[in-house]
Amino acid sequence: MELVSGRRVVVDAERPPLDHAAVLVADGRVAAVGPTADLVAAHPDVTHRAFPDATVLPGLIDAHVHLAFDVTRDPVPALRDADHDALRTTIRTHAAAMLAAGITTVRDLGDRDGLVAAFRDDVAAGVVPGPRVLTAGAPLTPPGGHCWFLGGEVGRDGVRAAVAARAAAGLDVVKVMASGGMLTPAGPGIADVQFDLPTLRLVVEAAREVGLPVAVHAHGTASIAMAARAGADTIEHAGWYAPDGGRDLDDAVAELVAASGAVTVPTRFRGWPDWPAAERTAALARQRWADGHGVPVIVGNDAGAGQGRFDDLHDALTYYAAVGWTPAQVLAAATGRAADALGLGGVTGRLLPGLAADLIVVDGDPLTDLSALRCLRLVSTKWGYSPR
Ligand SMILES: [Zn+2]
Repeated sequence: MELVSGRRVVVDAERPPLDHAAVLVADGRVAAVGPTADLVAAHPDVTHRAFPDATVLPGLIDAHVHLAFDVTRDPVPALRDADHDALRTTIRTHAAAMLAAGITTVRDLGDRDGLVAAFRDDVAAGVVPGPRVLTAGAPLTPPGGHCWFLGGEVGRDGVRAAVAARAAAGLDVVKVMASGGMLTPAGPGIADVQFDLPTLRLVVEAAREVGLPVAVHAHGTASIAMAARAGADTIEHAGWYAPDGGRDLDDAVAELVAASGAVTVPTRFRGWPDWPAAERTAALARQRWADGHGVPVIVGNDAGAGQGRFDDLHDALTYYAAVGWTPAQVLAAATGRAADALGLGGVTGRLLPGLAADLIVVDGDPLTDLSALRCLRLVSTKWGYSPR
């Protein structure tokens, strides 16, 4: 058993923190949370990691990453041409960078040949350190469609078998490309729809039957609407693009998404404070518009693609703060609410007894200033501590 104490403990980002509190960790789980003095008195012999000026909070969750994508080059040829050993190294390196940045859970939404699933199993078995991993494997896409090179090409007749194969392979989520994207220049455009609604509904139906959630890649408003109608669990990117490359902030579609129960994972934040003023203003206004319609959001940054970095969620978190969210709301979208949306609410995302002791310690108070998240003192997962 171990005791980790701080000036405050954030049990749940949406509840007031506990002052001068500690978390008792046993076998990788939270055994108790309470006043430091009480827990020290009750467990005088356990190792006590004391951070008197710091904040203890749940580890961060990045809901959209690509561990196999090499951000330093054009990811497509790098991914297509690399052999498995090279990709395993890439995945391990990226996962280590995420863990070192305080990200203790990631959802990988596209790789090749099930390599991320193998890595996930190695982490779970304690063979390698890493964040908790959920993985989709190869995204479903029509023949020649967006990211076809990952190996997930499928026509309508093949949907059931493709979904069943993912369940049989132990994957955690079905990813389906409902629109084009940026990584496939010869494929459909970013606002173009791929698949039709009946096919997308078939994907969701087949996934429900095998107990898997569905993440729908949808940049354009037309594909976002289709994802909501089909019953998507999460809608990735949600860029609200119009066919002409502009934006289409369609109130009815936003209301449809909010009513559908789907959670969006916007992903374009890299370096946003340095964007041209007009672009920045429009991006913030777009999110405020979606918020105004009650469209739920969890944090993801498309690390590996879309310019998202592995070692830093800060751009994403500060973007939502600039939109007008409180630090607590931002943290919730990267911890408890993210866990709930990914089906992990009973596993991680909060420091409640029985949940995994996925926790980080940061100097200062992220509930008043999110930049405190960059002052990491400790990252803890089931497999131990990484003091910094
Ligand atoms: Zn992606």
